[in-house]
Amino acid sequence: MEGLRQIHHEADVCVIGGGIGGMLTAISAARHGARVALMHDRPVLGGNASSEIRMWISGAGTRVRNLQETGILEELMLDNMYTNPDRSWPMWDALLYGKVRFEPNIDLILNCACSSLEMSGSDPCVIESVSGFQTTTYTLHTVSAAIFCDCSGDSILAPLSGAEYRVGREAASEYGEEFGLPEADSRTMGMSLMLQCRETDHKVEFTPPSWAYRFDTDADMKNKPHECLLKPNTNFYWIELGGMRDTIHDTEEIRDELLKIAYGVWDHMKNRGEHGADNWELEWLGFLPGKRESRRYVGDYVLTQNDVENCTPFEDTVAYGGWQIDNHLPGGFFTDGGADQGGHLQKRRLSEPYPIPFRCLYSRNIRNLMFAGRNISASHIAFASSRVMGTVGVLGQACGTGAAVAVKHGLMPREACSSAIGEIQDALLEDDCFLPGFRRKNYPLTENARLSCEYGECGQLRNGLDRRIWGSDNGYFGKTGKAVIYEFPSPVYVSGFRLIVDSDLDREQIDGNPDLMHIPMPLFRALGYNHTSFGFPKCLLERFRIEALADGEWKTVYTAEDNHQRMVREKLGVTASAVRLIPEATWGSDALINTYGSAVAHIFSFDLF
Ligand SMILES: Cc1cc2nc3c(=O)[nH]c(=O)nc-3n(C[C@H](O)[C@H](O)[C@H](O)COP(=O)(O)OP(=O)(O)OC[C@H]3O[C@@H](n4cnc5c(N)ncnc54)[C@H](O)[C@@H]3O)c2cc1C
Repeated sequence: MEGLRQIHHEADVCVIGGGIGGMLTAISAARHGARVALMHDRPVLGGNASSEIRMWISGAGTRVRNLQETGILEELMLDNMYTNPDRSWPMWDALLYGKVRFEPNIDLILNCACSSLEMSGSDPCVIESVSGFQTTTYTLHTVSAAIFCDCSGDSILAPLSGAEYRVGREAASEYGEEFGLPEADSRTMGMSLMLQCRETDHKVEFTPPSWAYRFDTDADMKNKPHECLLKPNTNFYWIELGGMRDTIHDTEEIRDELLKIAYGVWDHMKNRGEHGADNWELEWLGFLPGKRESRRYVGDYVLTQNDVENCTPFEDTVAYGGWQIDNHLPGGFFTDGGADQGGHLQKRRLSEPYPIPFRCLYSRNIRNLMFAGRNISASHIAFASSRVMGTVGVLGQACGTGAAVAVKHGLMPREACSSAIGEIQDALLEDDCFLPGFRRKNYPLTENARLSCEYGECGQLRNGLDRRIWGSDNGYFGKTGKAVIYEFPSPVYVSGFRLIVDSDLDREQIDGNPDLMHIPMPLFRALGYNHTSFGFPKCLLERFRIEALADGEWKTVYTAEDNHQRMVREKLGVTASAVRLIPEATWGSDALINTYGSAVAHIFSFDLF
């Protein structure tokens, strides 16, 4: 009899789960030189942000000015705004797929659910390999690695490895949390199915499936806020269930209930009362529930409500959050604020970014296990803020960078935290991540050079802060044709440059509907949304050139014709006594405009190495 086909992969870092957390873990580890295997159980990447679930990415900057996440996440957002102006889901899937599939150093194993592992024979607290079954090829894939990063959301490696984890809500007494319960329980936030709807120019009938629930009145719908069609910046997040059950093992039954509710809700919108939905059609309804919460790992540190609200500083800060404490209560759709379930939502806005330490990203008892995403080491209330995908993204970049640095030095994550944390933080800052309380170090080449500019004041370019923050602009306002110049005492070899330009993190200077700017992928398509509703940051520097002075002559050594990224880091490979950056005009040499619509080139840093 022919046995199951088996394939063995060798990696430095193995990532389980390709949601936003897992993707950014994999990409950052790979970009820092680690050989990465990413095992993901779905055909498309992105987890809750993929076309299978369709949640949009929010983060610290959605609620508080200047706090939007940068690094790989902003690279993705800008790529999406630039290449996908209509915000189509197939294009978004293609973008995420391309970023991972064609990243050198990543071995992408799709449609493969990790379901078992082997612990090391010599150390029972070390994972040796994990295995998963690939449904498309009937193949068992096994990955051996030095470090395993569980980004599955459900923390699949916790029960398999014996890693400590939590499910549910803590008692207030455990961490002294204001929103904690009198007694701990195992309830969680629920899961949801999303609907996508489109306005047409004619009346569209809707007949619900016979098995859908029927909600004749708003009271039957438990008074959920369903004026969604008028508000493009919301969705049916409240079609939520499962928090009173086991959000892992009961998922299939919860999905069946959610389907009955979701079709019933659309029936209510179309056929039961006036909701302005006559001309709207149901374009898509997801069959894969998006999960908010399941198992959370226990690391060397557990982030709490107090840390989130007081912005506790940490020496091992590697990420930050800033989304409100957004605690959905377990009853979900069927709760109307009843005493037993305590209402539907429990929120508190935050005004400052809170640091997240590296110690929240590795297991307390399994030595080579890390994690990033909604399963980090946090109390239920802290998780209620850190769970959003902007935060999950920067956690992923921190986890992947940390794993790669640990592998490079042959360290376990805890050892890397004590002996290589500075290197991890420097790498994150260099990669355009923001760490509250930390400044990026300039390269020695620019630190020791003479900096000048032909227009304005450019000292800010070397202050180590690459965004507007805490009342300071931290940027240089440049002009077309006017150079920023670094001069060296004698000719030096310049291998490359790093440039950070303004990408309008608050998404304020973009043509179109301002409500849509914070929503990368809207779910309601009113007829009024045309191509220009989505737009691109006007202030982003589109064209520039770099010139080097050698033997008394300026020569162009780099030209950008259609830059659409905030961070540009490229090789130069020249020996020069000076190097200058010159913003160029977008539309011919007469035009003042050197960005996607602004006459100003707003630059946060220009560095040479
Ligand atoms: C309905 C809903 C609305 C939300 N609204 C927002 C919002 O507006 N903005 C926002 O930013 N966040 C929102 N969130 C929260 C956010 O979506 C999640 O916290 C976030 O997706 C967590 O990211 P992650 O990468 O940790 O996990 P996930 O997105 O869950 O990704 C984990 C991936 O791992 C895969 N996986 C699981 N088990 C295995 C296995 N054994 N083997 C291989 N792969 C596996 C899963 O298929 C999944 O794709 C919402 C969540 C839900 C459910």
